[in-house]
Amino acid sequence: MMCFWESSKSGKGTQEMTKRRKEYPRSPNNKVKELLRKEVNYGCPVPGCGLPFLTWHHFDPPWRERQHQDPAGIVALCPGHAAWADGGAYTKEQLQHFKRNPFVKDRLTAEWPWQPEKMMVSMGRMYFLGTKPIISFGGSPIISIGKRPTDCNSSRLISIGIHLRDPGGKTLLRVKDNMLDYPILAGSSLEFPPQARSFAVKHESGVCLNLAHDLLSLDDIEKELNSCSLFSIRTLEELRQSATNSDGLVSIMRVEGVLRSASVTIESTRDSCVTTLHFYNNERCVERPRLFLPGGSLSVTMSGEKHSILSFG
Ligand SMILES: [Zn+2]
Repeated sequence: MMCFWESSKSGKGTQEMTKRRKEYPRSPNNKVKELLRKEVNYGCPVPGCGLPFLTWHHFDPPWRERQHQDPAGIVALCPGHAAWADGGAYTKEQLQHFKRNPFVKDRLTAEWPWQPEKMMVSMGRMYFLGTKPIISFGGSPIISIGKRPTDCNSSRLISIGIHLRDPGGKTLLRVKDNMLDYPILAGSSLEFPPQARSFAVKHESGVCLNLAHDLLSLDDIEKELNSCSLFSIRTLEELRQSATNSDGLVSIMRVEGVLRSASVTIESTRDSCVTTLHFYNNERCVERPRLFLPGGSLSVTMSGEKHSILSFG
């Protein structure tokens, strides 16, 4: 969010204005945003909508009358319906009704927004090229990249699959055939900013998943892979084939968060990925930088078990 007071010049009147504006940034604070998202069950409350990409509409009083962060006078809406609300399409009473009677009831469904032609995935300093399961627990993929059938006029080919569970195995979120399915559960929250380039789900068990979608030049991704000693001429060719879109940019999805099963915990940030094996004296392992080319994978298995405990790629 751009801070519009940053370019203010000095001078008493301007300083007072700057101070006043700093006290009331238009975007509510994180606590108010979560409250507003939760009251509409994480989807636009306008009847028939339910989109999870939410922005904030101040209506009681409107922002132009008084700058405020009072959640009672703000409603979370999708960007399209927020623009209609700005244009005066809804009365205060209607907007209050939307807040009290959201369109989404017990589950939110929406089409997954990222369907690029090709994609690379990063998790800590591990990079994945090609369509494959990115991470699996007990043989069941948690995050996977596939290709979906498409009509000849569409260049959208990648489909993201997600099956996020709490440590007891309860489903927190699914994405299947590009459809997001999010059951509204106590202790769970969902965040999709309106640009739809990032996404976050959090659960009171500590399980959380943040995905951020980015576009990089081949030079930038070459530098990033070089910094982990993972770059080679073969990589460049694989990048061109597996991750470069028709604009010549590399589409990358960064995976961060905490994933858990009864046997394993994975904690992933931008720069590291740490695995804890609960069945093995909680041994912690910092995953070294790796590049998983198409077909490449790594598994942790236990003798006698049918499926690997954990696998990447
Ligand atoms: Zn809407």
